[in-house]
Amino acid sequence: MPHRAPVPLRAPVRVPVRAFVLALVLLVCALGCGRAGSPPVKGPQPEDLPVYQVDTGFRLPDSPTWKRAERRGHLVVGVKEDQPYLGEKDPASGRYSGFDIEIAKMMSASLGFDPQTIEYKTIASANRETALQNGQIDYYVGTYTINDNRKKQVGFAGPYYMAGQSLLVRKDEQDIGGPQDLAGKKVCSAAGSTPYQRLQKEFPKAVLVAYDTYSVCVDNLLTYQVDAVSTDDSILLGYAAKVPEELKVVGTPFSREPYGIGVPRSDNALRFALDDALEAQEKNGNWKKAYEATLGLSGVPAPTPPAIDRYPAS
Ligand code: GLU
Repeated sequence: MPHRAPVPLRAPVRVPVRAFVLALVLLVCALGCGRAGSPPVKGPQPEDLPVYQVDTGFRLPDSPTWKRAERRGHLVVGVKEDQPYLGEKDPASGRYSGFDIEIAKMMSASLGFDPQTIEYKTIASANRETALQNGQIDYYVGTYTINDNRKKQVGFAGPYYMAGQSLLVRKDEQDIGGPQDLAGKKVCSAAGSTPYQRLQKEFPKAVLVAYDTYSVCVDNLLTYQVDAVSTDDSILLGYAAKVPEELKVVGTPFSREPYGIGVPRSDNALRFALDDALEAQEKNGNWKKAYEATLGLSGVPAPTPPAIDRYPAS
């Protein structure tokens, strides 16, 4: 029966096509789809990021930091590398991404340096002041809270974002709903951070554990070495968004953490130039676009940025 010959031929063809389509759907899902409203698993998409116009005629002769960068030919910027959607380094490509990285890039463009030439240095919370004082970096953008104590050691442009201290726990945690529940609980934070200092002072019954970075705290949380991680909500929401089936952020923020760009303390010219640059980049829409392509991915819509605090020269 010759007319039946094509059947066995077509069958093996159909199966792989179906399998291929299924595999493709699974792959697309793995890359982008999840529960309704959940953020995509992938990080910032380069095509969503603003392109910052480099102010090629810009000069800042009164700033020793800017002049040194000009001689060098590029800026050296201190950042974090393990904070999802804020400052994150891709281990494969070595590339940095996130909202803080975008702020670093827009500042670079405003200061007349192509953002692509920025040399990033990962600096932990406890080492930021020293890095700025030693001239290891020109400025620092990494969830850096402006406060009076730090202002004695460094200068701050901004603020460019307002965060608040919060708590990250395992999804199955029933006992911790806010800082009032931390007595006798092991709570992890970063050495030298304001959240660590606040826990120490205001919640002395918590058993504090300090590491250099929050990602180590999160590893400790996932392996039941600690009961909670405490730092800014912006940081914790990023970790929770990466593994929503394992982690949750609880309670309401219990502090105000205005993020500034750290500069060498005596370089007022650089600080004021960065204040101007932030204001301009907020006005031209770049700030919002950058937020939406980065930190917005952890689930919070773009807020109105806080007013710049252009405090007098010191
Ligand atoms: N914003 C807080 C701070 O500057 C916590 C985040 C951090 O350690 O970078 O200390």
